[in-house]
Amino acid sequence: MCAAATYLRDVFGFDSFRPGQEEIVDAVVHGENVLAIMPTGGGKSLCFQLPALAREGVTVVISPLIALMRDQVRALREAGVEAGALTSGNTDEETAAVWDALDEGRLKLLYMAPERLGSGAALGMLRRIGVSLIAVDEAHCVSQWGHDFRPDYLRIGDLRRALNVPLAAFTATADAETRDEIVQRLFDGEAPSTFLRGFDRPNIHLAFAAKDGPRRQILDFAAARKGQSGIVYCGTRAKTESLAAALRDAGHLSMHYHGGMDPADRRNAETRFQREDGMIVVATVAFGMGIDKPDIRWVAHADLPKSIEAYYQEIGRAGRDGAPAETLTLFGPDDIRLRRSQIDEGLAPPERRVADHARLNALLGLAEALKCRRQSLLNYFGETEISCGNCDLCDRPAEIFDGTIAVRKALSAALRTGEW
Ligand code: ADP
Ligand code: MG
Ligand code: ZN
Repeated sequence: MCAAATYLRDVFGFDSFRPGQEEIVDAVVHGENVLAIMPTGGGKSLCFQLPALAREGVTVVISPLIALMRDQVRALREAGVEAGALTSGNTDEETAAVWDALDEGRLKLLYMAPERLGSGAALGMLRRIGVSLIAVDEAHCVSQWGHDFRPDYLRIGDLRRALNVPLAAFTATADAETRDEIVQRLFDGEAPSTFLRGFDRPNIHLAFAAKDGPRRQILDFAAARKGQSGIVYCGTRAKTESLAAALRDAGHLSMHYHGGMDPADRRNAETRFQREDGMIVVATVAFGMGIDKPDIRWVAHADLPKSIEAYYQEIGRAGRDGAPAETLTLFGPDDIRLRRSQIDEGLAPPERRVADHARLNALLGLAEALKCRRQSLLNYFGETEISCGNCDLCDRPAEIFDGTIAVRKALSAALRTGEW
């Protein structure tokens, strides 16, 4: 058995690699500069943790969130790996233990918050300890146009130059602008080996429909799936409440959820959704972050999401168990106008607004697709080899024509209002 497979089994306790992991691990172990894009939950951490064990010396991991670093360090230590973090959240003992392990040459993974890179002392220390790899988690934080921009991530390029070691960057954000920015800022524009994998969720059926009595459309969709757990995303808080009531009137188990509710009520809704079969939550985008329910059978959008990334993330909550799941996204000219004005009236700097419009446009392109939706969606995320047969356009080739005309009418009406 090769070394990587041994670590996989003996240290991490997994029988096999997930799709895409093995190629990435291999490239990182061999000291290539790597940019790996994988969806959330795809298993990115392993792609730098395993190579850290296989390589000589210390792997420095830059990660944006202290809680996240601490979790990973704890899990690694439980698996018997020498890992430590230098963060502002450390106790003195923890910091001392990290230094001891470094001095004795035992430490394999050193997690650091990007803020630390600002001090000359940190750089001196990193030069001294024999760093052989820099791993950057959540690498999209380097993108100034993105929503998670961390100015301290801009120091990572300097660190790579100073240490002159390979760098492996990981993110779930796959749009082309963000990728380009990562390559510019972390790799000085020199193309790394790039891996883009695993964005397809083949069990999720994709469908869009022009709004034509949206309340009835959602009620019909839910009625056809009675007794199954689902989420309906709405554009406003008021709508979550009225639509949840309408679903209850139609005999479903249903609750609303939005950011204006008491924290206790929100927690209660989350718990009931996790535990009770057949519950429908009607929610704003505030719902979902902490939800870990594998058997959500459907996700509907009563209003158009704000971007193709948001769409993908929200429908991605369905069918985590791999069993068939269905989605329906409604949209009309008013949605498009609203999303445009939200971007234009927001506080984001002009470059970011341009990027936000592009992400909304990509979603409109998906709504307007003439052939397979999965193809449009995954092409956007950079994947090229796509097989589908599980979207509304693949299902009903004969009906495409009519549906498309309705969609095109809605879109061109929005265009004529001049808000593009
Ligand atoms: P990401 O950072 O891409 O969102 P994580 O690295 O947090 O994903 O991994 C998500 C989950 O998948 C974790 O619970 C992890 O233990 C698990 N996982 C990763 N690789 C494998 C594998 N090869 N086999 C089984 N589970 C895995
Ligand atoms: Mg991660
Ligand atoms: Zn298709």
